[in-house]
Amino acid sequence: MVAAASRLGAGERVVVPVVYHVVYGSFVAPGSEAPDDREHAPALALAQRQTQALNRAFRGTGFSFRTAEATLRDFAPWRREPMPPGVLPAEEDLELMVRDLTANREESLHVFLLRQVENRAAMPETKSLFAGGPGTDAIIMDWDYLPYVEGLSPARGRELRRFYFEGEMLVHLVGHFMGLLHTFEEWADGAEAGCRDKCGKTTDLVRDTPAHRWTWEDEVGRCVPLDTCKDAPGLDPMTNYMNLEPDLCASELTPGQVERMERMVRSFRPYLIVPAAAAE
Ligand SMILES: [Zn+2]
Repeated sequence: MVAAASRLGAGERVVVPVVYHVVYGSFVAPGSEAPDDREHAPALALAQRQTQALNRAFRGTGFSFRTAEATLRDFAPWRREPMPPGVLPAEEDLELMVRDLTANREESLHVFLLRQVENRAAMPETKSLFAGGPGTDAIIMDWDYLPYVEGLSPARGRELRRFYFEGEMLVHLVGHFMGLLHTFEEWADGAEAGCRDKCGKTTDLVRDTPAHRWTWEDEVGRCVPLDTCKDAPGLDPMTNYMNLEPDLCASELTPGQVERMERMVRSFRPYLIVPAAAAE
């Protein structure tokens, strides 16, 4: 449940140092695809562009981001078994990598960027990406979702680029990292898995995001207005970063979402709060 922690006080800010880990060599490319090697990894200059995208999305809130570090490294030390072509890296190997590279650096936001991987973020209550417990407080993202910049971005993923080119997948994942759920999240009766038929129960614990259903399969990338919960107030939040619409559509965090993030940071990530005097 929402912690009773207070919002940011006057002059307080959340300033997030972001450490980007670009990791190549986790994936054996099938057939004619470009290899997952150093040469085909995204340029580290994209890290700064990605941080700009975060700051653009959080403009007008108490949250800001700075690039603390961006490094490029080989996945080889964590790959325990040879992987067949086209297979995602083993979860155990990913977990070891995240543990090693975040150890003793818990006060930064670590973003791991790999060639092909399931996007995910550690929620503030668990501070963990894996079932194995603490020590893996990070975000993992497929590097195709970085902002697209000619000459800096990898050649793969042309189809993704139509929808994801502004670096807003990381905005979505940072939303999770700060405690936001999807706008269509069912929380009260998750076990019933009846999300699609239970508009009254779909909620993200935020007061000002309309209840709606997940419509990904039908409407991806169209940014068209929808009203999947006709009896509940408001249209579907097609422009909200915590819906799963592509960058093309996403442009908004609501005041209620910002409030929830402030309270969650106060409760679970207070080390990110810069006191009023130091914020000048
Ligand atoms: Zn999500």
